[in-house]
Formats: sequence, C-alpha cells, structure tokens
Amino acid sequence: MKGKVHIVGAGPGAAELLTLKAASLLRAADVVLHDDLVPQEILDLVKPSAEIVNVGKRCGRHGTSQQQINALMIESADRYHTVVRLKSGDPTVFGRLGEELDALREAGISYEVVPGVTAATAAAAAASFTLTDRREASALVILTGHSCHGQSLSRALLDPEQTTYAIYMPGPDYGATARELMRLGLDESTPCAVVSNAGREQQQSKLVALSELESLTGVAPPAVLIAGRVVRKADFELASSSVEEIFQLALIPPISSESLEL
Ligand code: SAH
Repeated sequence: MKGKVHIVGAGPGAAELLTLKAASLLRAADVVLHDDLVPQEILDLVKPSAEIVNVGKRCGRHGTSQQQINALMIESADRYHTVVRLKSGDPTVFGRLGEELDALREAGISYEVVPGVTAATAAAAAASFTLTDRREASALVILTGHSCHGQSLSRALLDPEQTTYAIYMPGPDYGATARELMRLGLDESTPCAVVSNAGREQQQSKLVALSELESLTGVAPPAVLIAGRVVRKADFELASSSVEEIFQLALIPPISSESLEL
C-alpha cells in the first residue's frame, strides 16, 4: 500500500490550539510519528489501535536521526494508509520540513502539510502583546539560536541569501514591493511565491523571480508574498513561470538538505 504522509503542526501544546484538520487527522491516523514537544494531551486524540512513535531527539539514548525519521516515514507509508508526522508549532518553522519533503518526494510518496500555530504567535497571544504594530513595528523576524552550521544570529539576520521574507499586504503594486526588496539587497533572481487565499478552497499560487513580480497580474486578495531560496522547492502549478526557468534565472546551486532549518 502507498499511504499518504500528513505533516501536521500540533501548535504550541494545548489540544484546543490544534486546527480542526489536525485533530481529525490524528483521529484517523494509522500511525503517528511525533516530536518530543508534542504533549500527551494531544496524543490522547489518536485512536487506540494506531501506532504512536516518539521520534524526538531526546527519545532513547541517542535519539532518532533525521535519516531514520525519513526512512520511518517512507516505511510507514508502505504499511499504512494514513501516516501523521506530528511536529510542534508549525511544520514550516524550524521543523526540518525541507529535509522530510525532499525524502518523501524522492520516494514518490504523496504528502500534504497542515499548518499549526507557531511559538512566536502563541507567545504573543499568551502575554497579550502584538508582534507587529503599524505605529512602531512593521517587521517580524524569526531566527533560530541553533543552526546546523553554527551560524551566528547576526549573520543570519543580515544575509539576504539565508533569509526568507514573508511580506503581508504585498500588492497591489508588486513592482514597488519588488524594487524595495532589490534595494534591500535581494538578488533580482530571488524566487518568490505569491499565494492568495492560502489554505482556502480558492487558493492560488504563482512562482516568479523577484524581477518578474512587476508583471504579475490578477492576484486575488488576500495574498502574501514569500521571497527567498527555500521557495525554489515550492510544489504548485506555476502560472507565470516554470521551475526550470526559475532555476536558470536564479543560478543558485541546489539547496543541500543540511543547509535548511535547525
Ligand atoms: N515548529 C515549531 C518550532 C520548533 S523549534 C514552531 O513553529 O513553534 C523548537 C523551539 O520552539 C523550542 O525550543 C522553543 O524555542 C519554541 N517553542 C515550541 N513550543 C513552544 C511553546 N509552547 N512555548 C514557547 N516556545 C516554544
């Protein structure tokens, strides 16, 4: 059997902060591969007949390596219909999602990514403050204190090549937004995903190089623009440019799995 792997965000830890989709996938799962930070309260949603495997780093003497986790996901998809890979917070934020997607794609296994509430937004909500404020904070930076190359915080912060920019309210003048980003130091070949109605039925996404943003038309609001190298691996129908074109434009060597996330 070739099952499907659902990479699901568990949110910050309280079961009531799970998405409805995460909760129903947990109930339907035949196997759940979860990280350490996922609490029992959430695992209690899993049906008793399902297999639950802690693949967290602190589990066991040496923990489970990323290669072992990848192999386990692939094996599980061979044996089961519904495989849930459960991660704390949101899978796209410091969740080694890139490496796991690479492995699933290589193995030809179908997958989906289900978002969750990430730690930064949960923390701000918990302490009742805002992450952005039109009067005094127009950017939110998400950095890791640990990276696989021991890169410093300041280097990560100041290097546009190592940064993913999520720009809310990017339109309607995408050209102006693109020019500003290029003035900031982003290369004109930087891959950009423009996603409108993300997570909704009428979701649409386009992948373009930064220099092509200006010619983007017909983006239905609400939309968000994500710019950065990681976008090259985006998996959607490309409306205005092909992946091959982006690769030629970008002239960036392929991203090695080690250079992503934690
Ligand atoms: N994918 C996760 C982050 C995983 S990295 C997310 O989107 O939130 C693990 C780090 O996330 C922890 O070391 C801690 O810094 C932060 N984190 C995760 N859950 C948290 C919580 N409930 N409260 C505060 N920080 C949390």
